[in-house]
Amino acid sequence: MSFKQRVFSGMQATGNPHLGNYLGAIGKFVELQNNYDCIYCVVDLHAITVWQDPKELPRAIREVTASFLASGVDPKRNIVFNQSQVAEHAELAWIFNCVARIGWLNRMTQFKEKSGKDRENASVGLFAYPTLMAADILLYRATLVPVGDDQKQHVELARDIAQKFNNDFGESISAHGFAGAFFPQPEPLIQGPATRVMSLRDGSKKMSKSDPSDQSRINLTDDADTIALKVRRAKTDPEPLPSEAKGLENRPEADNLVGIYAALAGQSKADVLKEFGGAQFSTFKAALTDLLVAKVGPITSEMRRLVADPIYIDSILADGSARAQVIAAETMKAVKDIVGFIRR
Ligand code: ATP
Ligand code: MG
Repeated sequence: MSFKQRVFSGMQATGNPHLGNYLGAIGKFVELQNNYDCIYCVVDLHAITVWQDPKELPRAIREVTASFLASGVDPKRNIVFNQSQVAEHAELAWIFNCVARIGWLNRMTQFKEKSGKDRENASVGLFAYPTLMAADILLYRATLVPVGDDQKQHVELARDIAQKFNNDFGESISAHGFAGAFFPQPEPLIQGPATRVMSLRDGSKKMSKSDPSDQSRINLTDDADTIALKVRRAKTDPEPLPSEAKGLENRPEADNLVGIYAALAGQSKADVLKEFGGAQFSTFKAALTDLLVAKVGPITSEMRRLVADPIYIDSILADGSARAQVIAAETMKAVKDIVGFIRR
């Protein structure tokens, strides 16, 4: 069976959206809206897999929403909403908890990293995170999922869940008139020179909202002076920049900064090194700061304007949730029939 092409992606309301989120995900959201039906979700149910202060969470949800809109996501052409307003996400996730195997989830590197040494004390939700993510995508029977490199494994798990559901319930799926398969195999969309932006303090760690060090990331809300300071302080090595991309091997911090520059300038790393090969980091960092301020500055000011108007943001989320729910409810009706539940 062939499925309608549809894009789905989500971002957690866990703190300040940052440059990694922009280059890995939000920037792609904006490009894709020209060619596809897109659904972009602020995944607040995912956010509470680690503790979120109830006084702070609404602000974080609105800030992530604002980062989508300020970057150019059109909430009329696409659907923009927060996950907890569409209860079907949790409902389908439960069914997927019964399809996915513990062994599959045990292999997920994000859980290992986020639970750290104190695994026994991590929430059950943090462990089951990937089944909820599979539900997010498959509730809309989405086929394309723009994400950063760190989420590749979870999208692959969503494919495995879709396939096992299609196999386990194959007979029932046919009996209910869905020829061949009920869920599509969603494809991760991970492209360009900055699919995994690294921490500015540690080239071996990805830039993250939840990193306790604010110096580790460029927030989309940082002003020009803060950006300049963070780039100046970004960890590097003592060598000048190489002239070819091969020279970035084993130089994670240099590779990261060159990748960021390339993504922002719409160039390849090789192009950037043609220009800056042989330069000292001080020179390159100054050029990178200028480029960052030029690209991030307009997003920052638009985000400020938007977060100052929570009523507007909430109305976007309410409208998007209502439209998402229409699709979600259709899917859940079919899923309940396929599984064999009785419904009104
Ligand atoms: P947290 O630390 O709470 O997990 P996060 O910074 O990882 O936050 P998410 O909300 O988990 O952000 O991810 C949202 C999207 O941004 C995902 O598609 C993810 O792959 C992408 N993303 C996150 N960090 C990076 C990064 N450093 N580089 C590129 N893409 C990223
Ligand atoms: Mg993350």
